[in-house]
Amino acid sequence: MAAEPTIPVTVLTGYLGAGKTTLLNRILSENHGRRYAVIVNEFGEIGIDNDLIVDADEEVFEMNNGCICCTVRGDLIRIIEGLMKRKGTFDAIVIETTGLADPAPVAQTFFVDDDVRARASLDAIVTVVDARHILQRLEDSHEAEEQIAFADVILLNKIDLVDAQELERVRQRIRAINAQARLHETQNCVVPLEEVLERGAFDLDRILEIEPNFLSEDDHEHDDAITSVSLRSEAAIRPELFMPWLRMLTTNQGQDILRLKGVLAFPDEEQRYVVQGVHMLLDGDHQRAWKPEEPRTSRMVFIGRNLDPATLQQGFEACAVRAA
Ligand SMILES: [Zn+2]
Ligand SMILES: [Zn+2]
Repeated sequence: MAAEPTIPVTVLTGYLGAGKTTLLNRILSENHGRRYAVIVNEFGEIGIDNDLIVDADEEVFEMNNGCICCTVRGDLIRIIEGLMKRKGTFDAIVIETTGLADPAPVAQTFFVDDDVRARASLDAIVTVVDARHILQRLEDSHEAEEQIAFADVILLNKIDLVDAQELERVRQRIRAINAQARLHETQNCVVPLEEVLERGAFDLDRILEIEPNFLSEDDHEHDDAITSVSLRSEAAIRPELFMPWLRMLTTNQGQDILRLKGVLAFPDEEQRYVVQGVHMLLDGDHQRAWKPEEPRTSRMVFIGRNLDPATLQQGFEACAVRAA
């Protein structure tokens, strides 16, 4: 019996805030004639990433119960096996990992699990790198380095946020970690998608050179000092209080804030306001109208070090409209 062709799987990785969701949105909204099944894993209790992904025909499977590289590999295998039962409804799979994940255990799934291996094959590990923050990240994060080391394709993103000299330093640092990956320099992850998807780029031999135990290693270390805090408010949030509060937080504690994301309901505002941040950088905009059946709940997630849930909760609540 001839072996059936396997479904190509792209693992999309990159540290918090590098631009993974931007790339994923491009993959889902561009007219390339391919259908992708998407698996998203995020760190934190509230599934905001899923909410930031454009409405698309593709189904999005969320795994919020932990880090994809440790606790949920079982979930990953189950989701892929579930997908395989619906073969024919999609052409390829994209897995977006949490920014804190080490890609090795995710990649490993496609080699060590026999059922998965028979039906899906790892096409490439694509790593999005934040040009502005990566040098700092490499100082304090083992995952950030592994994400670059394991990449088959690297998108050096946000190059508009650094000058030519800094960009050259970043390039050299990346090349010192991984000399073989295809490197694309981008703003807003703008790259021809054929440079990223279905490249057949994954090279097991190269990975075994970096990590000889790749196929047998079972546990790995994590930065336990990084935590996430999720906030929620049923009452609308007053922008005139919220914006100064957020700016104050990022000014005073920006070094510790690796990532923040929020979907906010402002009073008498038909549109959802989405805010995102990395360290001191904040970016916010109206995204789309609230749907009629959608509860107007405001939600925020902070990921970082030395986060105090009680203080953050108090600060957030103080921005909410009080019941009369
Ligand atoms: Zn993990
Ligand atoms: Zn790890």
